[in-house]
Amino acid sequence: MESKQTTKTPIAHPADLVEAGNALRTQPGTFPPPVALAQSPERYQVVVIGAGQAGLSVGYHLKRRGIDHVILDGAERVGNAWRNRWDSLRLFTPAKFDGLDGLRFPAARDHFPTKDEMADYLESYVAHHGLTVRTGARVDRLHRANGIFRLETAAGCFEAPQVVVAAASYQAPRLPDFARALPDEVVQMHSHQYRNPAQIGDGPVLLVGAGNSGAEIAIDLAETHEVWLAGRAVGHIPFDISGFMGRKMLIRLVIRGLFHRLLTMRTPMGRKFRAKMHGHGMPLIRTRPGQLERAGVRRIGRIAGIEDGETVAVDGTRLAPATVIWCTGFHPGFDWIDLPVLDAQGEPQHRFGRATDIDGLYFAGLHFQYAVSSTMVAGVGRDARRVAGWIAAALRQPGG
Ligand SMILES: Cc1cc2nc3c(=O)[nH]c(=O)nc-3n(C[C@H](O)[C@H](O)[C@H](O)COP(=O)(O)OP(=O)(O)OC[C@H]3O[C@@H](n4cnc5c(N)ncnc54)[C@H](O)[C@@H]3O)c2cc1C
Repeated sequence: MESKQTTKTPIAHPADLVEAGNALRTQPGTFPPPVALAQSPERYQVVVIGAGQAGLSVGYHLKRRGIDHVILDGAERVGNAWRNRWDSLRLFTPAKFDGLDGLRFPAARDHFPTKDEMADYLESYVAHHGLTVRTGARVDRLHRANGIFRLETAAGCFEAPQVVVAAASYQAPRLPDFARALPDEVVQMHSHQYRNPAQIGDGPVLLVGAGNSGAEIAIDLAETHEVWLAGRAVGHIPFDISGFMGRKMLIRLVIRGLFHRLLTMRTPMGRKFRAKMHGHGMPLIRTRPGQLERAGVRRIGRIAGIEDGETVAVDGTRLAPATVIWCTGFHPGFDWIDLPVLDAQGEPQHRFGRATDIDGLYFAGLHFQYAVSSTMVAGVGRDARRVAGWIAAALRQPGG
């Protein structure tokens, strides 16, 4: 592979986002003092942070119980987490597993929705259930004063005795620190910045990370670019999810049986799987290794570092790509939580979504919060219902 100079306008250097586990985490006490507020805070029984599928599910279950709440989201529009993913993305779950509690997904049961259809569905979910969502309200700081949670946002300050963080575990891109050592002329981006092949300049593309995002983006680019996919094999679901048997039967076994019922925190198999998954991707769900090969994607081992401007894989392969796309996953990005609830890696300490040491603080949509399905559309409702139940019980307590 020849190194290629590119004249493309560089995208904000993703290596600026480099973090090594806990570097993104602001140490408690380092937040600026609260700004004097012109208006007094808005008060609710519950504030839910995040209006993705997790936050909306929690909102639905709170509303059913008649609990006063508001859902805050930093984005300008509900569904933007999906809208901002790459153009060709389709869900790997068919529509029958893409409806949240109380509203089926409006498509044929075996249809695999596009990411924009999913985004529109979430918007329609808000309207259908009359949920109170405040967009453009990113929470910059969550802390507690006098026994009450306080949330500071650009849209004002909110207070509540109960808070649910429903912002998933995927808010900040995770890159290896050697990303900084790549020469300046190599265009770098994280998978969350990738949209389509037209965005990528000429020359070889190296995708680092061979999980679901890496494999799907590799296929997306293979027709127009020379594509290299680096990373260890994460395994794959042993059938074609869009084939007849896959659609009619096997996908149900995987999503409902395996991901929702079997691989949970209550089963030894689930706990073992969770420990194994930590820091590793899920097995490939849609893409099959043969498909990558047929598309002309070249596989190499994990990238160990950069030497003389070239990437060096553990199998010794050296490359000089024109573009590197880091498909290396995400960090929870909870540095705005100014409460002693995060561990040294910035992960919340909780049991099934209830903060271990902080009464009144809950999570929804976390990576393997209760089961593999906790982060999936088909599984988040069970966790949301549990969280709403805990909140209802807490509010029934004297002084709750
Ligand atoms: C590429 C990809 C494909 C996937 N495909 C599928 C699939 O086919 N089927 C499936 O079931 N699952 C799929 N998933 C998994 C999961 O369904 C999605 O990640 C989904 O977006 C998670 O929803 P969420 O509500 O938990 O988090 P998000 O969708 O990330 O929503 C979190 C919300 O919180 C907001 N937020 C974050 N921080 C703050 C803050 N400080 N203040 C205010 N708001 C904040 C964000 O703006 C965002 O709107 C996929 C995930 C990815 C990455």
